[in-house]
Amino acid sequence: MYDLLVQNAILPSGESVSLGVQDEKITLISPEPILDPARVVLDADGLTLVSGVIDMHVHFNEPGNTHWEGVFTGSRAFAAGGGCVFVDMPLNSVPTTLDALSLDLKKQAMGQSQTDYALWGGLTPINLDQMPELAEGGVVGFKAFMSDSGLPEFQNSSVGVLHKGMETAAALGLLVAVHAEDPQHLGAYRGLEDFTSSRPTLAENSAVSIALELAKETGCHLHLVHLSNIEAVMLALNAREQGVRVSIETCPHYLFFNEEDLQKQGVLLKCAPPLRPEVDRKMLLKAVQKGWVDVIGSDHSPAPPEMKRGDFARAWGGISSVQTTLSVLLTLGIPLEEASLLLSEHPASILNFQGKGKFAVGFDADFALLDLQEKVLEKHELHDRHRLSPYLSHGLKGRVLYNFVRGHVVYERGQFSSFQPKHIRFDTAGQRT
Ligand SMILES: [Zn+2]
Repeated sequence: MYDLLVQNAILPSGESVSLGVQDEKITLISPEPILDPARVVLDADGLTLVSGVIDMHVHFNEPGNTHWEGVFTGSRAFAAGGGCVFVDMPLNSVPTTLDALSLDLKKQAMGQSQTDYALWGGLTPINLDQMPELAEGGVVGFKAFMSDSGLPEFQNSSVGVLHKGMETAAALGLLVAVHAEDPQHLGAYRGLEDFTSSRPTLAENSAVSIALELAKETGCHLHLVHLSNIEAVMLALNAREQGVRVSIETCPHYLFFNEEDLQKQGVLLKCAPPLRPEVDRKMLLKAVQKGWVDVIGSDHSPAPPEMKRGDFARAWGGISSVQTTLSVLLTLGIPLEEASLLLSEHPASILNFQGKGKFAVGFDADFALLDLQEKVLEKHELHDRHRLSPYLSHGLKGRVLYNFVRGHVVYERGQFSSFQPKHIRFDTAGQRT
C-alpha cells in the first residue's frame, strides 16, 4: 500500500511519469499510471514535476524580528514557491545565532515552519569559541561578513578572524559562507545616485580573492554567497581548479534586474552587493547558463514597509523573493533540468543532505507540480508577510500548484496543510552524494 500516488505528471525531460511514495520516500517511478492501492491518489493531469527547491540563503528574522518576516509567513511563501528545505541565516533575528542558547531559540521558532529547514550559525569576532557548540547543535556551517553587516550585533570579521574561523570550520567539517565585499574598497554614499558606485565590483572581487586564499590555506569549504559579477565567479572557478573547496551562489535579482531598474524602483531593489549594469547582468546570466554557478539562493531579506521606503540611504537593504526563485529562473529561459541542478541537486550536495535534492527512487519525496504558463505576478499570490516583491507586475513563468515535502502535501492551490517540519543537518559522517 502506497501512502501517495501521483499519476500522469511530466518530467523536465518531457517524459510522462507516475510515482509512488512510501514512508516519505519515492519508492516507485513509472512511465505508466500505477494501479496499486494507495491512501491518496492525485492525477497531475500533465502538470510538470520538479524536485523541491533547497534555498541556502534566507533571512526569516525570528526570533525577535517576526514583524520583519517570521518563520510562519516566510516558510509558507517558500512552500508556495516549491520549496522543501530553506537554510536560515544567523543574523536579523534577536538574538543572532552565535552560540548554543541562541541556536535553541532559533530551533524553537522553526516549529512553525511549513517546510523542512536547516540553520547557519554565525562566525564573528566574539564567538569563535562557540563554533563547536553550534556544530553540535546541527548548523550546516557559519556565515561571516568581510564588510560591515549593517547590524552592530553581528560584527564583520577581519582577515585574521576569518582565518581562525575557517580553520575551526574545516576541523568541524562544515562550511563557511562569506559575504564578500572588501571594506577597503567600499565608499560612503549619499543616496540612490551614488550607491552602486560606492560598492564597486572591485570590492567584491578583492574580498573573493582574499577569502579564496584563506580557503586554500585552511582547507575549509568556502561558500561564496550572492556573487554579483562574473569576474568573482571566474576567480572562484580558477581557485577550484587549483584544488580549493569553493561553491558559488548568486541570486535571482542579479540575473533579472540591473542598475537601471534600481534607479527606477529605488529602495525596493536596494541590496548589497548592489545591482550591476546591464552588461554585467548579461555576463552573470551567461555564467549561470554555462553551468559555472553552483546554486541560486534567494537571499530573501525583507523588512517592514516603513523601512523599505523614504530616504534611500537610511532604508533597509534586502530583497523579498523567497517565493519566486524557480519562476524567475524559468522566465529567464533557464531550462528546467538546469534549474533543478541549481535549486535542488547542487544545494543538497554542497550541504551534504543525504537522500535529498533528486527526483529518484530512494530519495525523499520532495517535489512540486507546476503549471508552466507565464502570468503577471499579482500581490494576492504572495504569502510572505509584507509582499513587497520587486517582481510584482512582471510576467513570470511557472506557478506551483502542489508542493510535497517528504510525501506530505504542504501547499495545494493557495492552501496550506499542517506539517511537522524536520531539522535537516549537514551529514558530516556521510559520503557526498
Ligand atoms: Zn543574506
